[in-house]
Amino acid sequence: MEYSAPRGTQDITPDESGLWQHVESVIRQTMALCGYSEIRTPIFEHTEVFERGVGATTDIVEKEMYTFRDRGDRMITLRPEGTAPAVRAYVEHRMASRPQPTKLYYIGPMFRYERPQAGRYRQFHQFGMEVIGVAGPAADVEVIATPLDIFRALGITDVTVNLNSIGCPVCRPGYRNLLKEVYAPVLPQLCPSCQSRYERNPLRLLDCKSQECRGYMPDPPPIFEYLCPECAQHFSEVRRLLDKLGVEYVLNPRLVRGLDYYNRTTFEYTVGGIGSQDAIGGGGRYDGLVEELGGQPTPAVGVACGMERCVLAMKAGADAKRFAGGVDVFFVSLGERAAERVFELAFQVRSQGVSADFDMMGRGLKAQMRYADKVNAKFVAIIGDNEIDRGTVALKDMSTGEQREVPMAGLASMLREGR
Ligand code: AMP
Repeated sequence: MEYSAPRGTQDITPDESGLWQHVESVIRQTMALCGYSEIRTPIFEHTEVFERGVGATTDIVEKEMYTFRDRGDRMITLRPEGTAPAVRAYVEHRMASRPQPTKLYYIGPMFRYERPQAGRYRQFHQFGMEVIGVAGPAADVEVIATPLDIFRALGITDVTVNLNSIGCPVCRPGYRNLLKEVYAPVLPQLCPSCQSRYERNPLRLLDCKSQECRGYMPDPPPIFEYLCPECAQHFSEVRRLLDKLGVEYVLNPRLVRGLDYYNRTTFEYTVGGIGSQDAIGGGGRYDGLVEELGGQPTPAVGVACGMERCVLAMKAGADAKRFAGGVDVFFVSLGERAAERVFELAFQVRSQGVSADFDMMGRGLKAQMRYADKVNAKFVAIIGDNEIDRGTVALKDMSTGEQREVPMAGLASMLREGR
């Protein structure tokens, strides 16, 4: 019996893990550059964290969570997103009592029971940033602009920033009513999920993906024209600071995002060349969430980006092989005496910080050379009886093909310098 990974999940095989490690290291370097600390939360949480934190009327909570009762009769959910857990941890560990703001980032797997297709999976990975404790627009702009630096460093260039403001509890109710008025005449024609959203969360009508619904619904009056003075001021400051950084964006009044906790700024990045699932990340301000999860009222803003989609976008434009790792040196041995010597030498140079591998399969010279080439060794060190007697190795530079005899002692330091 042969098994396959569950539907909607995938292995990251050795062919791809080099590329993934590269993506992760760019993220970590950028986060360090911007003063963010990593938060690692459990893969599962109490279900209530998401019900309260993500919102009961969201697609995630209504139909996408992996929820189960554990053996101790607790309701547990595999995390579908990273913000509610990060905020739960912020409250639990009293991070508010540290110097503010709290700037957190995370990288890790998320779980949603969605219909799998290219770019959409049931287990996928996100990196995200959260700035907790800042009401001002500089934080919004930092979390919008920083992932763009990461995309750029990864060679993902065809990115569009969509921007909107969905107001606050002061100005949103008026807009909600306006939307209901505008869409009341077409309500009977809309899909069942829009009909239920009409009552419960009419803003969500705007991001219905059904083309049929779209056909019935005239373009909405742009929400950012109905903001209260404070929200309008915040939005115009966000736009001014984006302009100052030279970040281009398009205003998208339909961008309300699927999560209930957002207020004011919402944004999403789309990328060309990866098919219909082209949202590569998104986020917004969530000033109500810390309090919702038991903390003091605390403003906050964050972003989450899909790493599979980053990798897809990179593969659309780059050579994944470039990131396949390779050892500094592969030791090729001729004969039994040499086989034993390379075994020792490999361990020796490793202890001096040079990555090394050697033949364990008892293969002949040609096969060992072919293998070294396939696994991307930078140098090959060939050792037979003559070399052992002379205390040397025949060192071949795999990129130039050039070969010379060098002393065994000092091999490690030479290879380190040659890197
Ligand atoms: P969200 O907060 O739901 O907008 O998710 C943020 C980002 O995560 C999206 O823009 C996608 O890039 C990625 N993402 C969300 N759901 C999935 C999924 N099921 N499979 C792969 N990537 C996803």
